[in-house]
Amino acid sequence: SSIYGGLRSSYDYGPLGVSLKNNLAASWWRDINNDNDLSIYPVDTAIIQSSEVWKASGHLAEFSDPMVDHKPTGERFRADQVPDGLKKEDLTEPRHFNLMFETNIGPVHNENSAVYLRPETAQGIFVNFENVLRTMRAKLPFGIANIGKSFRNEITPGQFIFRTREFEQMEIEFFCKEEDQEEWFNFWINKRLDWYKSLGISEDKLRIRTHEENELAHYASKTSDIEFMYPWGWGELEGIANRGTFDLTSHERESGKDLTYFDPESNEKINPVVIEPAGGLTRTLFAILCSNYDEDTVNDTTRTLFRFNFEIAPIQIAILPLSKKDNLINFSKEIKTKLQKSFRTEIDITQSIGKRYRRQDEIGTPYCITVDVETVDDKSVTIRNRDTMDQERVEINKLHHYFENI
Ligand code: ATP
Repeated sequence: SSIYGGLRSSYDYGPLGVSLKNNLAASWWRDINNDNDLSIYPVDTAIIQSSEVWKASGHLAEFSDPMVDHKPTGERFRADQVPDGLKKEDLTEPRHFNLMFETNIGPVHNENSAVYLRPETAQGIFVNFENVLRTMRAKLPFGIANIGKSFRNEITPGQFIFRTREFEQMEIEFFCKEEDQEEWFNFWINKRLDWYKSLGISEDKLRIRTHEENELAHYASKTSDIEFMYPWGWGELEGIANRGTFDLTSHERESGKDLTYFDPESNEKINPVVIEPAGGLTRTLFAILCSNYDEDTVNDTTRTLFRFNFEIAPIQIAILPLSKKDNLINFSKEIKTKLQKSFRTEIDITQSIGKRYRRQDEIGTPYCITVDVETVDDKSVTIRNRDTMDQERVEINKLHHYFENI
């Protein structure tokens, strides 16, 4: 919306941002699947679902914040987040405000045409529990993962993409037996925490905060948040909740469908307990930007860089021919053709080599390859490491192996 003056809390991602976001999502997916003993099945569910889903989940009745209006300006605030300095008599009594975006389907608008943009991806998983169980012959314990856009009519969006009205979530519902719930709850806290660390977020910027009894959502018996130290202080990055049997039994009751699991060991139908690691893709991207940004001094000038790790960097390898001579450009293209099957690469030919290094540092490219006149004779290139700025000479036919093993 920026050419029209912008729209609060609405952001678009450009070419590098899209790459970073997709790479993060892929890394999340790889990470939750890297354990041979864990079965996690993906689903991709609709944004607009039957309104009955939101009735059963409790979102129609419960998904609201108490709000107050500031009478002189008409501004609305969460009752627990009224800015200092406002007079109490200028505020209305707190009223509940549902956070779901409502719209209508079909040509006629009436109470039966009302639908909602999903405020979380989790319910799409629960309503597909039986499908996945049957088609994948799933056995407890197993997880179902869903990733995609969610929408909340947040009253106080802000702090860039930390809290927006349209955002992306990556959620897992992990179904297990009641007697194993504690073990899986702890397993998921540790596994998710390790993933954030693997992205280069330092340990002292991460902490676990267990919810007090009075903070728990209506469905949760226990919740721990993974928090990140944002520029303004600690805030949620991901919530790990024990949702018990709340969701499956609610959907069973409202839909009349059997959503139980037949346990072959006890020969009984049971309601599995659900452990939910619910993360935000766009919020994680923000945390990555904050924690990977750096400035250092090189030759008395300030260098700004993102220290993205190799897995998520938008461009992993930049290929920089030292001059625009045909043979160097052709060599560069040849190298790109070889590497691009496995890595995200680009050829950058404009401006001095120093400026090109800085530009790649700024977008967080971990490695630059320079192609120089000697390359033509010795079939080797110079690899420059973004973080150490060390350079080493490597034969072109060993490049693939080199990058595969970092
Ligand atoms: P908060 O307390 O910050 O509003 P929440 O507890 O309501 O978050 P959940 O419902 O647990 O959030 O959603 C799971 C994850 O989805 C959050 O940890 C966060 O990463 C992400 N998320 C939730 N709301 C937003 C939003 N408005 N903008 C961006 N990400 C969000």
